[in-house]
Amino acid sequence: MIQTASTDNVAELHLMKSSTIPTLPITHCCPACGLLCDDLVLTATLPMNIKNACAKSVSFYNNAWQENLSVPLLAGKASDLNTTIQAAADILRASNQPLFSGLGTEVQGMRAMIGLAKKTNATLDHMHSEGTVRNTLAMQNSGWQTTTLTEIKNRADIILAIGTDIVTSHPRFFEKLVWNASSLFDKPSPEIIYLAAPKNTPEDNLKAGISPTGKMPTIITADTSKLPEIISTLNALMNGKKITVDQVAGVAIATLLEVLDKLKTAKYAVITWSASNFQYTHAELTVQSITHLIAKLNESTRVAGLPLNSGDGDSTVNNVSTWLSGYPTRSRHFEGQTAYDAYYFSSTQQLKKCDALLWVSTFNAHLPPHCDAPTIVIGHANMQFDKAPDVFIPVGIPGVDHAGSIFRMDSSVAMPLKKLRENQLPSLSEVIHQIEALLT
Ligand code: SF4
Repeated sequence: MIQTASTDNVAELHLMKSSTIPTLPITHCCPACGLLCDDLVLTATLPMNIKNACAKSVSFYNNAWQENLSVPLLAGKASDLNTTIQAAADILRASNQPLFSGLGTEVQGMRAMIGLAKKTNATLDHMHSEGTVRNTLAMQNSGWQTTTLTEIKNRADIILAIGTDIVTSHPRFFEKLVWNASSLFDKPSPEIIYLAAPKNTPEDNLKAGISPTGKMPTIITADTSKLPEIISTLNALMNGKKITVDQVAGVAIATLLEVLDKLKTAKYAVITWSASNFQYTHAELTVQSITHLIAKLNESTRVAGLPLNSGDGDSTVNNVSTWLSGYPTRSRHFEGQTAYDAYYFSSTQQLKKCDALLWVSTFNAHLPPHCDAPTIVIGHANMQFDKAPDVFIPVGIPGVDHAGSIFRMDSSVAMPLKKLRENQLPSLSEVIHQIEALLT
């Protein structure tokens, strides 16, 4: 049982089980979102204190210490590691067209998954790829100009957030990168503009855009699904086209002109967006429209994009897949070749065709989708199944139960994850290597 108390950036976890390693306190990297804050300080004394944590990270560590299913299951009954690894290998050996989905893992886990995919002719798709692929399609089609978190911290003077409040997905973004007092250069605090943040955005989240001196952000309210019209209008205005209406999707043309003026006069504007919030048909065209706007603005000033990721190792998994095979996920390994198809190799499509599902979720206890084919689940020990899969193998959480590496959301830095506690759970890569060894 865990009790959690949080005040500002200090949280307490009262641990009643699992021993912590004796070398604590340590400075720790939090894998709960793509910011990968590396300033969390965890102490060895009980109750455990976590300094510099946000609510999302407290929830992450809370879940890591919940009562859990630390025993492997075979058809819903308690089993042992060797028996379940053998059963998983038997399912994959009998499969011609397995789907490896979820893929919530770090570098080492994904390297192992690709090795097993090559051996079993599997299709790979990350659980958050629906959002990621909107960015990938835009980038593949026409390229883009993006920046790093360090550049934002040191240079940004305007941040335009499109279809996102930022802090819902990346809670300490403003604290770490925007209102920080440790910028390399003497620059003004950035001006914040929210454009079409989702309707369900908590009001407090938008308050994160208020500067330490009390300067309010500009909030432009609009339906997120209307962003195609709004961004297209910004592009039209940027290209000198005459707009004959007073407003588009409820946003005054005068307001859009003001936004453009601010972007044009900024020394280093950053335009950020969350593609996972663009939940409408062909949303990749909105991303492409944003990247066109950035490219055009760069003819006269400096503007960069920052696509927000969704977490569960999505940036890491796609980077590892790309450097090992040439393609991000939504790829299939077949007879030594790799094919890529952003639509056909999606989990949604492959769940209709696959003859085995291997679902992986090590950071969080995300459950697998329904699948009629034999299902293997390898992941977080706190999974609560309505219907037990054919095989369940609980594994350690990267950055809690074992060390690892994970890419930050800007893909420019791979951060080391440290081990926090001792327990009996193997890592995902250990389990995958053992399954693969049985298939030789
Ligand atoms: S902002 Fe993200 S990385 Fe930083 S402490 Fe919170 S959840 Fe962890």
